Amino acid sequence: MSSITLRDIRKSYANGPRVLHGVDLDIGDGEFVVIVGPSGCGKSTLLRLIAGLERCEEGEIVIDGRRANELPPQDRNIAMIFQNYALYPHMSVLENIAFGLELRKVPRKTREARAREVAETLQLTPYLDRKPGALSGGQRQRVAMGRAMARDTSTFLMDEPLSNLDNALRNAMRTEIKTIHQRLGATIVFVTHDQTEALSLADRIAVMKDGYLQQFDTPAAIYDRP
Ligand code: ADP
Ligand code: ADP
Repeated sequence: MSSITLRDIRKSYANGPRVLHGVDLDIGDGEFVVIVGPSGCGKSTLLRLIAGLERCEEGEIVIDGRRANELPPQDRNIAMIFQNYALYPHMSVLENIAFGLELRKVPRKTREARAREVAETLQLTPYLDRKPGALSGGQRQRVAMGRAMARDTSTFLMDEPLSNLDNALRNAMRTEIKTIHQRLGATIVFVTHDQTEALSLADRIAVMKDGYLQQFDTPAAIYDRP
């Protein structure tokens, strides 16, 4: 089970203006929510607050029924995937995927078995021994996702994960993320400025503008309204 509830979240950065003005959001177990809006409207800030990488001065974050405001990132049982997927160039695909488990002191055999399983899901098995430098952009993105998936979590936060890819790859990865969502029954919060991406992926879309959540509804309700 994984659910995320945000209550009246307000945030400003040191001495700066407020960038979130009281955001409420209820994300259900297994839901695919896309946060969409122009650059600078507060999407990444919201995602980093959920991940625990930023603190809010007001409001409440509830993860799996537990107040999470003071929980450090590693205790939130959430995996975050960034746009600039930070892979280790000197490590193989297998080692890169298993790396998060190494930090958690999971035994080597278990780590590798888990990494192989994830690689199979992501169709990376033929590349397990390669270094990231010898992979395409899409393959690298999949390795980054694999690292997140190897952790035992079903909640993924994705910050513009496809923005650096070319069109064809972006389409392929979209399909892949959808498949992963269904196969894992994962809860996904996905940030993008691209409305097409939001439409093709989301169960529900959260539309943000200037630090406000303006709409939170199904793609049909948001885009087909007369
Ligand atoms: P988006 O993801 O929608 O592009 P962000 O959440 O990155 O928006 O940014 C929201 C606002 O907060 C912007 O005005 C941005 O300049 C500001 N901001 C983001 N990160 C920081 C930071 N670390 N320090 C100060 N201001 C920031
Ligand atoms: P504050 O930052 O103190 O909330 P603002 O000047 O940003 O003040 O906004 C004043 C009021 O106008 C807000 O409380 C809000 O209700 C409304 N508002 C402003 N911008 C937006 C927006 N983009 N979407 C929805 N409501 C808005």
